[in-house]
Amino acid sequence: PLILGIETSCDETGVALVRGHELLFDAVASSMDEHARFGGIIPEVASRAHLEAMIPTIRQALDEAHVDLTDVDAVAVTAGPGLVGPLTIGASAAKALAVAINRPLYGVNHVVGHAAVDQLVHGAFPDRFLSLVVSGGHSSLLLVNDIARDVEELGSTLDDAAGEAFDKVGRLLGLPYPGGPHIDKLAREGDPQAIRFPRALTKGRDKEKHQDDFSFSGLKTSVARWVEARHDQGLEIPLNDVAASFADAVADVLTAKTLAACQRHDVDTLVIGGGFSANSQLRDMAAERCAEAGITLRIPPIRYCTDNGAMIAALGANMVAANVAPSALDIPVDSSMPLTVTHV
Ligand code: ATP
Ligand code: FE
Ligand code: MG
Repeated sequence: PLILGIETSCDETGVALVRGHELLFDAVASSMDEHARFGGIIPEVASRAHLEAMIPTIRQALDEAHVDLTDVDAVAVTAGPGLVGPLTIGASAAKALAVAINRPLYGVNHVVGHAAVDQLVHGAFPDRFLSLVVSGGHSSLLLVNDIARDVEELGSTLDDAAGEAFDKVGRLLGLPYPGGPHIDKLAREGDPQAIRFPRALTKGRDKEKHQDDFSFSGLKTSVARWVEARHDQGLEIPLNDVAASFADAVADVLTAKTLAACQRHDVDTLVIGGGFSANSQLRDMAAERCAEAGITLRIPPIRYCTDNGAMIAALGANMVAANVAPSALDIPVDSSMPLTVTHV
């Protein structure tokens, strides 16, 4: 079956066509340039951009994939989590398309989609696997028993997401928004052992209570304090070393907790997804530690890690393959959709 997927949870308007695990075309329009000058995403600006980009992006995907709208067998759309305005624009478009061509609609979970997209690159998933989804809005550890209908959320961040922490540290170091990629670049030139920043929820009672959870806001505060103290002493800030030590702390906690969970749940495959999986320190450390532990690591190329329609079409294809009942045409969007809800 041919699945058309629509993604509009944040600032990317994504439309893709997928057949089974094959991606025919993935069209993405981003309004990030319009947000950069505000130093953050403005939901109203994003909504308007989705509205303007929706029809041209659908057209582009169909044209480039050389398919006709009537060839589409099912329409999948992000039902949540995300920004209400942007989600509503995507859902409205998907509902209209489904009605127009009289095909089933599947409202699916954006975060689960970040894991699902890997099938388009590395093929079918094993029966059970763990997925770490890390982005500007999420840092969650998922146990996937069946990507179409059985996903457990083992843990998530108690405060900032990994990408968000990078962006906040980027701001305090005076880097342009979003700071994540800039810190990554600086970190590659620095010494990760130069400064020992804290690893939250990895020791004692905190660890027992939150073994699969993360926390990055204390780390951000430690970086801020360290930088202030250097300022007060009139010393220069070694940006490379601060970036490398901070990035090392984030990658260390993410990979240590994820690998411990893989072992506890006896899974041999880890799928990492979400925009933050572009991070070099995370990629390197995950590769090294998975190799040591005998765990197969799957991370899609960066263009599939950021928000796109392919992830939603891929998850829609899983719904069709698993014979999941389609969504009602009046499904609401849910800005805080739980990660255990794979579809509505
Ligand atoms: P969500 O997908 O949760 O809605 P989002 O759209 O903000 O959130 P993405 O676009 O998937 O997330 O990812 C962007 C985030 O990843 C930003 O916080 C960005 O700074 C961060 N990021 C991207 N590349 C890197 C990198 N190489 N190193 C560190 N952080 C990065
Ligand atoms: Fe996302
Ligand atoms: Mg984004």
